[in-house]
Amino acid sequence: MDEMLRLDGVTAGYGGLTVLRDVDLSVREGEVVALLGANGAGKSTLLAVASGLLRPRSGRVRVDGVDVTGWPAERLVRRGLAHVPERRRIFGSMTVLENLLLGAHVRFGREPRAAIDLDLERVLLLFPQLRGRGEQIAGSLSGGEQQMLAIGRGLMSRPRILLLDEPSLGLAPLMVREICRVIAGLPEQGCAVLLVEQNARAGLEVSTRGYVLEVGRVVKEGTACQLGEDPEVREAYLGARREARSAAAVSR
Ligand code: ATP
Repeated sequence: MDEMLRLDGVTAGYGGLTVLRDVDLSVREGEVVALLGANGAGKSTLLAVASGLLRPRSGRVRVDGVDVTGWPAERLVRRGLAHVPERRRIFGSMTVLENLLLGAHVRFGREPRAAIDLDLERVLLLFPQLRGRGEQIAGSLSGGEQQMLAIGRGLMSRPRILLLDEPSLGLAPLMVREICRVIAGLPEQGCAVLLVEQNARAGLEVSTRGYVLEVGRVVKEGTACQLGEDPEVREAYLGARREARSAAAVSR
């Protein structure tokens, strides 16, 4: 399987603050990889480095085998990498259709319009909730629909690797399930995923593998099953001990 994304020994931060320390990580074709970690562990920073928004101080970033360290974000989009940042940064005063087409801006003039329209249809098949809403102002969509729009916009660049930052944040459980269903199906459509999730349970459910980041370092990695059964992961991120305690309290 080809490696769609690879970070080797990445150290990065902001000004005097070092956030990531010597991070190695990879996402292969056909995979959804979860990136777990507490608030401030450096997950969003890792995505920023992978997508060209932040230049690492040391280490290398490779996309589909090509060393892209230091490439600007726009060039990486053309190379097949899309980044859907936290808090669904859609353009609220523009329509749903305009938002989706913006996602394809790197393709206009390079590809026939029919190819872009085909992907528009693909996004509407994935998120039927957006169908018929093309002229609606994006800011008037519900939180969950805005998240769908943000992911849809990312997919409109036809990425082979998609970086998703906390797609479940603030959404109702039913919506989380719906979005997870779509994420889990993306590798089949030729798009690998690196998924940052605070909702570790949902993250591991849709993933094949995962990494745990603590204070900027990878402290664990494994298959989603291995991580889901790891006592430390269960206690820190899956609330296992809390659940055991409350079960004990109920049985008393
Ligand atoms: P969260 O789940 O809260 O988003 P995270 O694991 O994604 O956490 P980051 O957002 O990567 O963590 O933040 C890691 C550290 O870097 C934090 O201490 C944060 O305050 C700091 N940081 C993030 N972005 C910037 C920035 N643009 N300038 C300076 N410091 C930043």
